[in-house]
Amino acid sequence: MSAEANQNACVVIVGAGHAGGSAAAFLRQYGHQGRIVLIGDEPLLPYQRPPLSKAWLKGEADADSLSLKPADWYADNNVSLRLEGVAERINRAEKTVTLASGEAIAYDFLILATGARARALPVPGADLAGVLSLRTAADAERLKHALGPDKRLAVIGGGYVGLEAAASARALGGHAMVIERESRVLARVACETLSLFFQDYHGKHGVVFELNAGVAGFEGENGHVTGVKFSDGRVVSCDVALVGVGAVPNDELAKDAGLATANGVVVDLEARTEDPSIFAIGDVTHRPLPLYERQFRLESVPNALEQAKQAASAILGRPGPAPEVPWFWSDQYDLKLQIAGLPFEADRQIVRGDVAAAKFAVFHLKGDLLQAVEAVNAPPEFMAGKQLIAKRTPVDADKLADPSVSMKEVAA
Ligand SMILES: Cc1cc2nc3c(=O)[nH]c(=O)nc-3n(C[C@H](O)[C@H](O)[C@H](O)COP(=O)(O)OP(=O)(O)OC[C@H]3O[C@@H](n4cnc5c(N)ncnc54)[C@H](O)[C@@H]3O)c2cc1C
Repeated sequence: MSAEANQNACVVIVGAGHAGGSAAAFLRQYGHQGRIVLIGDEPLLPYQRPPLSKAWLKGEADADSLSLKPADWYADNNVSLRLEGVAERINRAEKTVTLASGEAIAYDFLILATGARARALPVPGADLAGVLSLRTAADAERLKHALGPDKRLAVIGGGYVGLEAAASARALGGHAMVIERESRVLARVACETLSLFFQDYHGKHGVVFELNAGVAGFEGENGHVTGVKFSDGRVVSCDVALVGVGAVPNDELAKDAGLATANGVVVDLEARTEDPSIFAIGDVTHRPLPLYERQFRLESVPNALEQAKQAASAILGRPGPAPEVPWFWSDQYDLKLQIAGLPFEADRQIVRGDVAAAKFAVFHLKGDLLQAVEAVNAPPEFMAGKQLIAKRTPVDADKLADPSVSMKEVAA
């Protein structure tokens, strides 16, 4: 199909989350004239998930403030919505997507934006009421109702979502215990300096930690959770338990359609799968990271936006966006954590700033190239670090370590 013909093509998007909703918006913004059908299995318009573990739990956000676009936008921009529609099958030969309702929708281009789901903890009692996960607005609403003054939250898994929920529980006057299998929180996603800093900060705010702790199951009464049982037999009581042990990509549709998957749908730099008519974007993808010369699965809003732009650009024959440095943020208490890059093969860490004052950054170098920066309440370090990672130019480590040298000068 020529770029001109593509303008009038029918694009079907499966998954009305951050990536899918953004892809519809970028298609229209870039001048797409053809039909757009957005299929989402939730009852809501595309919305942002980051506030779910933060502002939403604390009652500081409402449904409108979560929405990516107001309801009118979809009608005004001729985006046909199939909310509460579950895509069950792709027929690549006929170019159709079949919904659970039986409706078959024809596409010229298909964008898979099915995201990821919370990983389950397969232990006895995991099906008790009050054992929750946190991925959707409905999940967040359930958790919100279970939190409050003196309510005891047990979080299984010390990742970002779990720590943010613990901070929110404390802000609401409840108790929070974080139970982590590893010897430190954020073990999979942050360096040790950051893990220890966050654990200490949460500790000062009254969060209790159980590290190196396996969970054998949940105990309950009348069908409702009352406690978490550790592998060593101890039981801690709780009113609600949040299982936050990671996410699994929703890549089954693609796999069943014969597309390559490897912890996510394998795509190229245009977010295209091996089928030229099918793209995949967001948390569900295993994507190339050109700066690091490897494939990886990212779970972040900036990644969802970047790939939504890639797919919309490719469909409309426009040049794609410049490769971005992956980045992520997390808010806990008064802390703004910003991370840019990934510390692949880093052999040295430089800490700049004051960890005790909660204002510092950890830089990860591979030789004299910056691979990643983790910045706590340090936006200049994050911004300049992100630029340095993108530029791939050697960094003067002495200057980087010296807070009297401005980040502008380090990055010059
Ligand atoms: C609690 C929480 C806090 C977060 N905080 C941050 C943060 O601070 N910063 C950050 O960068 N990122 C954060 N993230 C991650 C970020 O929200 C995700 O990276 C982003 O939402 C990914 O967008 P997506 O469209 O790929 O997936 P999603 O937003 O999950 O959307 C996928 C949608 O597809 C639907 N779907 C799946 N299968 C089908 C099907 N077969 N048919 C129809 N629909 C289907 C799903 O139900 C879902 O609605 C957070 C995530 C969570 C859950």
